[in-house]
Amino acid sequence: MEDNSFSAANLIVDLRALAANYDVLRKTSNAEVAAVVKADAYGLGLGPIAETLSTSGCKTFFVALTAEGVSLRSLLPNAEIYVLTPCIERDTNWMIENQLKPCLYDIDDIHNYIHRSQPTGLQPRAALHVDTGINRLGLDHSQIKAFCDSDERGKIDVDLLMSHLACADEPDSEMNKVQLSRFRENVQRFPGVRASLANSAGIFLGPEYHFDLVRPGISLYGHDPHHKTVPSRVRPVVTFEARLGQVKNLSEGEYVGYGATVRCNQPTRIGVVLAGYADGIPRYLSDAFDGEMHSVFIAGHRAPIFGCISMDLTTIDLSGIPKMDIGNGSTVEIFGRNISIEEVAEYVGTIPYEILTQIGARVPRNYVS
Ligand SMILES: *Cc1c(COP(=O)(O)O)cnc(C)c1O
Repeated sequence: MEDNSFSAANLIVDLRALAANYDVLRKTSNAEVAAVVKADAYGLGLGPIAETLSTSGCKTFFVALTAEGVSLRSLLPNAEIYVLTPCIERDTNWMIENQLKPCLYDIDDIHNYIHRSQPTGLQPRAALHVDTGINRLGLDHSQIKAFCDSDERGKIDVDLLMSHLACADEPDSEMNKVQLSRFRENVQRFPGVRASLANSAGIFLGPEYHFDLVRPGISLYGHDPHHKTVPSRVRPVVTFEARLGQVKNLSEGEYVGYGATVRCNQPTRIGVVLAGYADGIPRYLSDAFDGEMHSVFIAGHRAPIFGCISMDLTTIDLSGIPKMDIGNGSTVEIFGRNISIEEVAEYVGTIPYEILTQIGARVPRNYVS
């Protein structure tokens, strides 16, 4: 591990918690538990995440892009790798060379994939992605029927039939039942083919959603998608920290930051944190919400953000924190054990997925194993 202990900002990834979460999902599900590691494993870093999951017994992985699949193949020579959004026009040879399997979602793509695979002499293998109501990528019911009735059905080895839920994070949504019943109808058309419907939230909807293989992403990385209604069934994996670069005492009447948006109504001690929106601290966190400011965590206390978050720096109000507990180099938690990623996401009106995948590329990822 690189020594980043004095980096301005750090993302600390607990690989033990990742492995524990994989185990929780295995115990929750009767099906094979695959792992979704698209977008650099949700920003956590593909290599250590994939290796830890593989050591925990994970054999099947999903990525979004062919390039992500190629990177993963170099790490895990024996894993089964599906590419969720392949570009068949361009990527077919690349996929075959790297033994990646596309998730085909379009009749023309199926046709092209069969055609482009012919020179290899091997039977093309792929997953088929059916759309059961999210109305994003996927073949609809009539396209699936047309494909099953066509002679192309015999020219391709469909080894996984999959679909994706729109509202799995809302356990009471009718959409879940509608999609489940539509998916079952499609599964009947593919006897002997493995089926997969559930993402993280889908796994927690219950065993009828599990089929042969489940595809969790975010729950492996520490967020329980049903956290509003039940205590989290997975452990936090990620801590985002930055250093305090400077502490200063301002007189009443001074302003702080771009736009001079905040004024000190009394003598105020502020801290300058060495991370900003380029590191993935959403700039919107510097806006007051219901008259309250969002906080970070330092030396056992919450400290409100004070002034506009800038590209590399965030200013915080340290007035409530004993002076002797803090100084240059003190650690500031942006999110982690004390300020949850859910709290940060809710404050800015987004979801933990977006917070994780927006952590800046320049922030070193540190792994605890
Ligand atoms: C991203 C993705 C997943 C994983 O979803 P989580 O909510 O992170 O568990 C599963 N399936 C598909 C098709 C996806 O795109």
